[in-house]
Order: sequence, then structure tokens, then C-alpha cells
Amino acid sequence: MNGTPRTIDTVLFDLDDTLLDDSTAYKRAARRVADDLAAERGVDVERLVRAYVAQASGFWKKLSQEHLTLPIHDARAQLWSDALVASGVPVDIELAQRCAESYTRYRADGLELFPGALELVRGLREHGCKLGIVTNGFAATHNEKVDRLGLRPYVDGLFLADEMQMVKPDPEIFRHVCRTLGSEPARTAMVGDRYDRDIVGAGTVGLFTVLIDIHAIPLPEGARPPDAVVNSIADVLGVLPLGPPQGAPAGVQKREA
Ligand SMILES: [Mg+2]
Repeated sequence: MNGTPRTIDTVLFDLDDTLLDDSTAYKRAARRVADDLAAERGVDVERLVRAYVAQASGFWKKLSQEHLTLPIHDARAQLWSDALVASGVPVDIELAQRCAESYTRYRADGLELFPGALELVRGLREHGCKLGIVTNGFAATHNEKVDRLGLRPYVDGLFLADEMQMVKPDPEIFRHVCRTLGSEPARTAMVGDRYDRDIVGAGTVGLFTVLIDIHAIPLPEGARPPDAVVNSIADVLGVLPLGPPQGAPAGVQKREA
């Protein structure tokens, strides 16, 4: 609860735009796909990038449990199909699938943690904290993402929307994660970049919430504020009410769903 002294021994992180600069990575990947099509079909690159960004951001904004049954690669092909139509490009399913495949490849190439993210995760491990990643991403993309970013050795659990069949901000996710990690909500922090996805559900369950305010989106009127607000991942350590160092945990059983 806000203002209540507490000690944190478990830290959960959102992944995209929290530990890595996903907004830059996906827009860059979309531009590379559009550049390829400009060479091949003479499309307007800016128009297609804008259309894809609109489709993709709409998809993630609206994501709910019912979307979890569609494989993410099929969803991406649909997003590219819709973006191509919106850009006036004659489209067929083969072209949309090819765009989605290129996009997936380019996106994997461009992954990069935010400055300070790896240091934070390592520092929390050394302090003795259990760590988890809780994302609305899909197993088909986010397992690879975590591996490519080198985060896997530092986390005790990776909690993916389609494996859990739940989508943040569902509070049940945070109860499930705490049970799986053997943690108490009152001793657990959730760090994320979206108030509506990362903070609301975690706060309901009683986690200590940290908003990384990179989007500068005002909180809804009357909303319960996060326990802490920072400007970047590098500032998170300074706001977590950690107890004395306990040394790195021996590890907990890894259950992902
Ligand atoms: Mg995020």
C-alpha cells in the first residue's frame, strides 16, 4: 500500500519498453521491411511505416485473452496485410507473410537492452532478490527475445501471456507469479512502462509498483498513483525499498505457467 513501509525481496519486470527499447526496435524493423518493398514495388516508405505502426500499436493496445489463441506469426501477417491495404499496396497473403517473416528477422537483429538494464538485473540478483519477467508477449517471440538479450540466467521465471492464458492487467497474473516464485505480494515489486498494463493489476494485488514514465502519458483522473515513478530503468534501484543484501538466491523451481 502507498506509504506503508515494506521490504522488497522479489522484483518483476515487464519486458518491452521496460528492459529493452522495443518501440525503437519495432519501428526500425518496420522501416527495413518498407525499404525492401520500396525497392521491389515502389511503395511509399513513410506511409507504409506509419500504417504498420498504427496497426501494431492498436493490436497491443487492444490485446485481450481472446487474442491469445491466434499464433503471433499469423497475427503479424494480418497486421502487415492491413498496413499494406491502408498504404494502397495490392496485397496477397503471400506478400503479407513475407513481410511478417522479414519483420521478425529484422526485429531480432535490432534487440538491445536499455542502458543500465543489465546492471540493474545483475545488481538485484547479487543483492539476493528473486527476479521475474511478466510480459503480454507470446512464447514464439519472447522466449527468443529473452535469450538474445542475455537475460535468461538472471531470472527465476518468465511469465508469458499465451502460456498463462492471461493478459496484464489481470490481477490474477500477479497472484500466480507470486505463488510460482514463492513470494509474498507485499514483498514484491512490479516495474513497467505502462500504467494501464503493468501498474493497475499489480497495485490491486498489493505489489510495490514502479512506473518508468518514458511515454509521459498522464494517469487517468482519480487513478491510484504508482508507488514510485522514474524516468529510466537506470533509476529503478534507487526507489526500491530493498532490505540488507542476502546474496544471490539458490534458485527457485522454474514454472512458467
Ligand atoms: Mg512494456
